[in-house]
Amino acid sequence: MTVLIRGGTVVNADAEHRGDVLCQGDKILQVGTDLQVPAGTEVIDAGGAYVMPGGIDPHTHMQLPFMGTVAADDFFSGTAAGLAGGTTSIIDFVIPDPQQSLMDAFRMWRGWAEKSAGDYSFHVAVTWWNDSVHKDMGTLVQEHGVNSFKHFMAYKNAIMADDEILVKSFQRSLELGAMPTVHAENGELVAMLQQQLLAQGIRGPEGHPLSRPPMVEAEAANRAIAIADVLGVPIYVVHVSCGEALEAITRARARGQRVYGEVLAGHLVVDESAYRDPDFARAAAHVMSPPFRSRENQAMLWRGLQGGNLHTTATDHCTFCAEQKAAGRNDFTKIPNGCGGVEERMAVLWDAGVNAGRLTPSEFVRVTSTNAAQLFNLYPRKGVIQPGADADLVVWDPKATKTLSVKTQHSKSDFNIFEGREVTGVPRHTVSAGRWVYRDGDLRAEPGTGRYLKRPAFAPMFTALERFKHQHAPTAVAR
Ligand SMILES: [Zn+2]
Repeated sequence: MTVLIRGGTVVNADAEHRGDVLCQGDKILQVGTDLQVPAGTEVIDAGGAYVMPGGIDPHTHMQLPFMGTVAADDFFSGTAAGLAGGTTSIIDFVIPDPQQSLMDAFRMWRGWAEKSAGDYSFHVAVTWWNDSVHKDMGTLVQEHGVNSFKHFMAYKNAIMADDEILVKSFQRSLELGAMPTVHAENGELVAMLQQQLLAQGIRGPEGHPLSRPPMVEAEAANRAIAIADVLGVPIYVVHVSCGEALEAITRARARGQRVYGEVLAGHLVVDESAYRDPDFARAAAHVMSPPFRSRENQAMLWRGLQGGNLHTTATDHCTFCAEQKAAGRNDFTKIPNGCGGVEERMAVLWDAGVNAGRLTPSEFVRVTSTNAAQLFNLYPRKGVIQPGADADLVVWDPKATKTLSVKTQHSKSDFNIFEGREVTGVPRHTVSAGRWVYRDGDLRAEPGTGRYLKRPAFAPMFTALERFKHQHAPTAVAR
């Protein structure tokens, strides 16, 4: 199938220019003006619109079994919602139970994801350690296209990685040319604060942010960054939610360390007052970790994104419905953690970022697509509009408005953390792998059309790190 996207302004991370985009099969064939268009070409009108690389959400949890239940969005409904919002690729997580083989877990998740409507890939979590984990990490990188490993520093007595696991897994990641990533929260502190709050009679969702104050996140971010520095490994900190954790990243980057930060659309615009809502269901619907923070923290996160110390925007899309959240009716520690956003991320970023003068359209592309593609070594297959890249595109109407709501969302969740927010700038069309999957509000996602993305190891930063290390190698004293 050949598709021509005509009359728009093509935006890449480095520049924007007027031009048409011709796609053939699942690839971009040509970008320019006065293109020779074969007969039978489907023409998509991009007049008055921006044409941008499809979004990449590097942090989602579709169908996640967690806290005794399973996330409401499966790989079909979740990726379909993404397509409606202009996001054409996700990187989800394989999370093995402690003692479960990484390969078994990986195969299980691959099976669940076969019904995806958009392209997908997996970070694999390291939740325990022995020789088989060491070996499986190698197999995943060398044979299955995994190039990033996740470490939860929170969730004590469940999936928490202690310092021994962090050190061993970071070292192994470095050998393999894979990026270690961390969920930075001190699990010991969280566990103790939760017990103290419950003992004080604070049992509702308001206890959730109190059990995870900013310093809990900052301590873990600083610790993970320090371990990565000593080992000479790059590190990616997921869902940075507060100024204190951002400062840890900013300081390390100022020292020349390769540290990368991710921020969630939710953390940029939703604040902590949600947890004090007198309605349990609404308050509980906001329970995720790290929690939503104060408005001062939001302002700092925006500055981090503008200043280049935060690199990617994600959602941590992990939806649980009211009846699932009700498991924690009398104990906030039992409320399944997670919120949605995969459909709304780009519109929220455009409206609060570009319309507010915080981001240029090119910077928007950088933080919604290009940086994720580069850090996780999918570039230039993803994250750019140029011949040879995947035909993943969003035609963005900067003047169209929409009120975000659970009533119009495509997610199966029964809640929307952006409820009532009016945004200007929304997708008009989405093209995924050369297929016109979202047309003027009509979603034509099909199960099983998404493809598993193999991500090669040794993204370019590994070569730089290796050279640096070589030139600063310690020497013995000849005596
Ligand atoms: Zn997550």
